[in-house]
Amino acid sequence: MLNTNSEYLKPEIMDVIRAFGCEDKDFGHYFSFGSGKFFNAVEYDGEFFDFENECEAEGDLEFRRLAKRFAKLAFYSVLSKRYGRLPWGALTGIRPTKLAYTEISAGRDFKSLFKQMDVSEANALLVEKTIAAQKGIYGRGGGQDLFISIPFCPTKCDYCSFITAPITATRKYVDEYIDCLIKEIYSVKPLIKKLNSVYIGGGTPFVIEAVQLEKIYKAVAEVFPSVPEYTVEAGRPDVFSEEKLMLSKEYGVTRICVNPQSFNDKTLVAIGRKHTAEQTVEAFKTAEKYGFDINIDLIAGLAEEGVKDFEYSLDEAISLNPANITVHTLSLKSGAKLKENVKRLNVAGIADMVNLSRDKLEAAGYSPYYMYRQKYQAGGLENVGWCKGGKPCVYNINVMEEISDNIAVGANAISKKLFGDENRIERYATPKDLPTYINKIDRITEERNRLFND
Ligand code: SF4
Repeated sequence: MLNTNSEYLKPEIMDVIRAFGCEDKDFGHYFSFGSGKFFNAVEYDGEFFDFENECEAEGDLEFRRLAKRFAKLAFYSVLSKRYGRLPWGALTGIRPTKLAYTEISAGRDFKSLFKQMDVSEANALLVEKTIAAQKGIYGRGGGQDLFISIPFCPTKCDYCSFITAPITATRKYVDEYIDCLIKEIYSVKPLIKKLNSVYIGGGTPFVIEAVQLEKIYKAVAEVFPSVPEYTVEAGRPDVFSEEKLMLSKEYGVTRICVNPQSFNDKTLVAIGRKHTAEQTVEAFKTAEKYGFDINIDLIAGLAEEGVKDFEYSLDEAISLNPANITVHTLSLKSGAKLKENVKRLNVAGIADMVNLSRDKLEAAGYSPYYMYRQKYQAGGLENVGWCKGGKPCVYNINVMEEISDNIAVGANAISKKLFGDENRIERYATPKDLPTYINKIDRITEERNRLFND
């Protein structure tokens, strides 16, 4: 438990405490400011620690920003002395690149701030390379991306906290759901002035029937005859079919995601998948025939996997030579079956897997092109999208860096409207529950579109 005299610093401090896995311990904190100095006093395990930082702050916003930074550093300093350094130091935000861009645009060297926050040199370099790979896309910004949500899956994976349910339980909603999606797709036409990309995401979009998929493709083609980058997060290999791939090609899809997460059959069974590694290779090879850019998703830390198991998956993915490989680190999220069964993750082992993925992917000619961290991610590690042959996914960069409007249709879809001049973002989230989404479709369409029309 954290006792502090400053409520607005509490969430930031808790992020640091969580990163060390110490949320079940007791902490005391007292913050004050005077004579241009920020004071943080921390009480932990019967000991007291005082910190003092002198820094000029222009305006309230800057003051709060610095107060948060120094409070986090104070806690990080106490905990890292006891438990060791973290790869991202006291940096707890979801988007390290966004912070780097803020520093760069203010004319500062982001690496100085990263050093102050005790970020490892390897991670500062990862951010630098990611920024380099975003050149030409980041600066372009603006426009809109369209996200289409397909929240259906064959079965539920044990690590998944997403609202999806096995299709056996939700099949009865699919047709009505698609009708609603189509209504939404037509309704957003006037909101999209410059379409950057379309992303049909899951769930597992390929779990629906080809004829249902075609209805969505048709609506997109009628509303947006030309889509510069068109991704379908097809999903698990066991739902791939020649027919669905052919349709995707016919309607202009340019990028397909094959998401096995592991190439070890034992792991696939353990996480609740109903496919084998061999099916992944088959799905990949069939998709490759159609000339799609392909992404393969992997997760470090699944089931009982050790570094050798993960290395095997990595080698298998690399040997297929896809345009993109995304390496996620496992998170224990509420709502996931895994969270009930596992109390602590093998953080050190997962960190080794992540480091191995960086070495192997770079050696194989891949560059990091987008990255993000999640709140409950093992050891505060990160997810990184890697690309080869100059083929980063524009949609992923736009979403992660928040540099263009995101118009999201379907259930559990979060639209984001950027107000660049005011440096703020407004969000609109649709219901997670399928019947509620279907019943409220007219109201949802009206409310979301109002946000983008204003
Ligand atoms: S395929 Fe993805 S969305 Fe579906 S249950 Fe597994 S992790 Fe969740």
